Amino acid sequence: MPGTLVIAEVIDGSVSPASFELLGAARKLADEGAGPVAAFVAGGDAQAQELIAHGADTVYTSSADPSSLAEVLLPAVDAAIEQSGATIVLIAQSSLGRDLGPLLAFKHNTGVAMDSTEVKVENGRLRATRSAYGGNARAEHTWKSDPQIATLKAKSHDPLEADSSRSGDIKAIDAVGEARIRVLSTEKAESTGIRLEDAPIVVAGGRGLGDASGFELLEQLAGTLPSAAVAASRAACDLGWFPPALQVGLTGKTVSPNVYIAVAISGASQHMAGMAGSKNVVSINKDADANMVKVSKFAVIEDYKKIIPALIEEIKKLG
Ligand SMILES: Cc1cc2nc3c(=O)[nH]c(=O)nc-3n(C[C@H](O)[C@H](O)[C@H](O)COP(=O)(O)OP(=O)(O)OC[C@H]3O[C@@H](n4cnc5c(N)ncnc54)[C@H](O)[C@@H]3O)c2cc1C
Repeated sequence: MPGTLVIAEVIDGSVSPASFELLGAARKLADEGAGPVAAFVAGGDAQAQELIAHGADTVYTSSADPSSLAEVLLPAVDAAIEQSGATIVLIAQSSLGRDLGPLLAFKHNTGVAMDSTEVKVENGRLRATRSAYGGNARAEHTWKSDPQIATLKAKSHDPLEADSSRSGDIKAIDAVGEARIRVLSTEKAESTGIRLEDAPIVVAGGRGLGDASGFELLEQLAGTLPSAAVAASRAACDLGWFPPALQVGLTGKTVSPNVYIAVAISGASQHMAGMAGSKNVVSINKDADANMVKVSKFAVIEDYKKIIPALIEEIKKLG
């Protein structure tokens, strides 16, 4: 097969972690017979070298502003598809990906599988899996035409370890499109502490906490653990108890920590969609039959108000 093109993104001068995840997925496709891995980046040689170290064989660079809108990048991306001969295009499910995926698909009269959680090569063609019917089913997509375009959900694929001894080609593309939209301003979401997606321990709370004060207790617990972040189910966010930006699940963030402590969360399929990759799940729930309890390595069947303060005390004793 003629190969895969990864659309990499640059944030604050560095290649985004999601771009390395795309390269991890593209290398897996290469092992399955998809051919060489190319990357496109609105960036320079430094970013191209980072992409090569993480698995790209060839990198197409563009001098366009890395924060450019999809329609500005489109001609350069198109040129990269043509020059690389790629029949598969992988894009992050980012704000750029949400625009670029459909734009590219429309231009090439092909389809795009948005927010895919798995990609593989079957019978020489791409097969992408994504969630359907509100997380209650999994849909599998294949393409009749090329390029086969998929956007990938963050954290659905592992990046490769950087290998600075890898070598590859870097080719500049100078095509630039015209923007019909003008961005007046951008605002960065405020955050303190470790990023939820990067935390090795996540303490998540659900509707069973009863009210917003339950999250104060979870913050205290997270404070006693090394590099822990607090998250919430959608039910808790919808009730206004915790910021929606920290919601885990199908319509929230995807996390894959070493330990996921689910406090008063039932384990609906839409919540599981965001934390199923956790290495160890610990539940604190009053209901022994809750779905979350069933998928847990350890579960405490009790009122969280009794367990969490006692747990905090015990952890403090460990120093
Ligand atoms: C299209 C769609 C997208 C969705 N996306 C998401 C998403 O991204 N993320 C998400 O989380 N949900 C999502 N949902 C909602 C999802 O279906 C569930 O409604 C939601 O996850 C339930 O949240 P919960 O587990 O906190 O609440 P509940 O299901 O009400 O569970 C509360 C749990 O707390 C336990 N409990 C109660 N009191 C205590 C106590 N004192 N001590 C210990 N345990 C206690 C109960 O036994 C129960 O297990 C989505 C739904 C749809 C239709």
